[in-house]
Amino acid sequence: MTDLSGRVALVTGGTRGIGLATARALAEAGATVVLTGRDEARAKEAASAAGAAAGLALDVTDAKAVSSLVRSVAKEHGKLDIVVANAGIMEDALLGMIREELVDMTLSTNVAGTLHTVQAAARAMLRKKSGAIVVLASIVGEYGSAGQTVYAASKAAVANIARSAAKELGRSGIRVNAVAPGVIETDLTAGLSEDAKAENSSRTPLGRLGRPEEVANAIRFLVSDEASFITGQVLGIDGGLVL
Ligand code: NDP
Repeated sequence: MTDLSGRVALVTGGTRGIGLATARALAEAGATVVLTGRDEARAKEAASAAGAAAGLALDVTDAKAVSSLVRSVAKEHGKLDIVVANAGIMEDALLGMIREELVDMTLSTNVAGTLHTVQAAARAMLRKKSGAIVVLASIVGEYGSAGQTVYAASKAAVANIARSAAKELGRSGIRVNAVAPGVIETDLTAGLSEDAKAENSSRTPLGRLGRPEEVANAIRFLVSDEASFITGQVLGIDGGLVL
């Protein structure tokens, strides 16, 4: 079992799905975990379900709020070792149906939100010259997806945030990686039709959709010392769907 005792971790979008499973996995490995969500009551409830130390309100589209929350977590716990920039949204739209609000909302949450989080994490980690950051990309960011042009573009950007930040921060002892999940059963994919779920399962060599815990386990590995020479990677967690 990975040992993260003594580590301080922050997980954005930790109220449900992959973020909640990640907060739980890191806490079970011994880390002191702070999770966030847009609503304070929901974040506190999730923190208690995950065994996290605190659940705080944070909208990742707000750069100043991200910066001040990261600073205060690092101050309260004396340091910040692990940051998982997980908060994200997905809304499908065919090219002709894409509204400007969808573009703004998706890019400000998935791209700017991830960027704010990575910037703030780097600032907190640079002082002690160590740390591990994971961002949430997607297989559609690598390969595209009909009806998901905006979301796919945002996730391609997220993967390149990881690659670029890894190059910039490596000499300061900070590793940055991305995970690229396939179709994972969470609220985000709950709206998929049964036909779409069945089709995705049948196209997946492992013959099923993924579980949030399966993404969380990979993230826990990437932030641990077991992954000490891994940086700038985009790790597919998709049951082989893209093969
Ligand atoms: P969920 O919809 O289940 O959870 C999304 C989380 O993000 C919630 O905790 C939500 O918190 C938070 N969130 C959304 N917008 C914001 C915001 N502006 N500021 C702060 N927090 C926010 O999604 P998943 O768990 O499925 O997805 C997690 C990540 O994984 C996302 O980045 C997603 O794109 C990515 N991913 C998911 C896949 C899947 O199949 N599920 C596949 C590939 C990638 P709250 O609503 O409480 O504020």
